[in-house]
Amino acid sequence: MNQHEWIHLADRVVAKNYGRFPVVFTKGKGTKLCDADGKEYLDFVSGLAVNNLGHCPPSVVKAIRDQAEKLLHVSNLYHVEPQIELAELLAKHSFADRTFFCNSGTEANEAAIKLARRYFHDQGKPEKNEFITMRNSFHGRTLASLTATGQEKFHEGFGPLVPGFHYVPFNDIKAVEKAVTPRTCAVMVEPIQGEGGVNIPDPGYLKGLRKLCDDEGILLIFDEVQVGLGRTGTLFAYQGEDVEPDIMTLAKSLAGGVAIGALVAKDEVISSFVPGTHAATFGGNPLASAAGVAAFKELAKEETLAHCREMGNYFTERLSTLKEELDVVQGVRGRGLIIALELSIPAKGIVLKCMEQGLLINNVKEKTLRFLPPLVVEKEEIDKACDILGGILGNLK
Ligand SMILES: *Cc1c(COP(=O)(O)O)cnc(C)c1O
Repeated sequence: MNQHEWIHLADRVVAKNYGRFPVVFTKGKGTKLCDADGKEYLDFVSGLAVNNLGHCPPSVVKAIRDQAEKLLHVSNLYHVEPQIELAELLAKHSFADRTFFCNSGTEANEAAIKLARRYFHDQGKPEKNEFITMRNSFHGRTLASLTATGQEKFHEGFGPLVPGFHYVPFNDIKAVEKAVTPRTCAVMVEPIQGEGGVNIPDPGYLKGLRKLCDDEGILLIFDEVQVGLGRTGTLFAYQGEDVEPDIMTLAKSLAGGVAIGALVAKDEVISSFVPGTHAATFGGNPLASAAGVAAFKELAKEETLAHCREMGNYFTERLSTLKEELDVVQGVRGRGLIIALELSIPAKGIVLKCMEQGLLINNVKEKTLRFLPPLVVEKEEIDKACDILGGILGNLK
């Protein structure tokens, strides 16, 4: 079947919960994707920060092949070798002691919400069960994570939501201070808001949250599902701010393109997950964990992180030049290789024009373009992307 026929079939049989672009990708390598008709694209979306190592990274592909021949699945009634290995890597490279594995970002956040409540239940303070989360946040689509998500458009028609969530503006420490009550159990925040528009808080904001949580005896949860794992130029975004959470959630690029989710925490907190409290059938299964071990080893390399910082600086400079040259460009912001370009015009049309010219990007707000190239991107590819984008933005009628 050709691309047109696939899309026609999808139109009949696949749920219409996504506004999809009319393209079917069939192959990928590094920063390149190929559609069903053979057209090549430069991918600056990276599966929404999943393909941090590019498409089909060789070490991950090999790990999947090797593991697939040995064991695909075994229940968490038993120990799983690669799961233990990945948990050890996470403990070695982060503030955390232990990991709970699941299959997605939203599931990791559900686990964080349950763990925070259970932690205070175990301390004899079951009344501490409420959360403070941020406006414009994104934490996922299952009910508790959806409730935590501070954007009404995602809530519409799905009530009643989970009780006990309060929203405050992002990057406003005073607002959090005011919202804390004796019922608060945790503050949940993305160190940089991804879906909300690549919003970077002021220096000291996350540290301020840490201090507030310490003073009030409540937990601090960082959702690093999008900005963790090298994306901002440090292995975890919190490391760039010199502040540690009590619980951190991960997913997206943790297994180099295979579905996985993780909650990591210090012993003292995660010990509330005793047998019977929480579970996931596929969580930390042999295949995903083996992919995770291979991917994590690449992501944690200092050369991967240094390359991300270098390319991030280069990309930001090139985009800043566009800002100087073109009136439609209002601003550039980012850290590492999560970068946004603020426009004075709707971004959607620009995304489509880029796609026609073989460049994949997306938009997060009506007038905001977001770039999430693989961390292995090279200067020539950034040049190519900027040339395409500059050409389009410079020739608007
Ligand atoms: C993508 C994302 C999620 C949800 O992850 P899923 O795997 O789609 O459930 C949660 N939090 C953040 C910050 C994300 O970017």
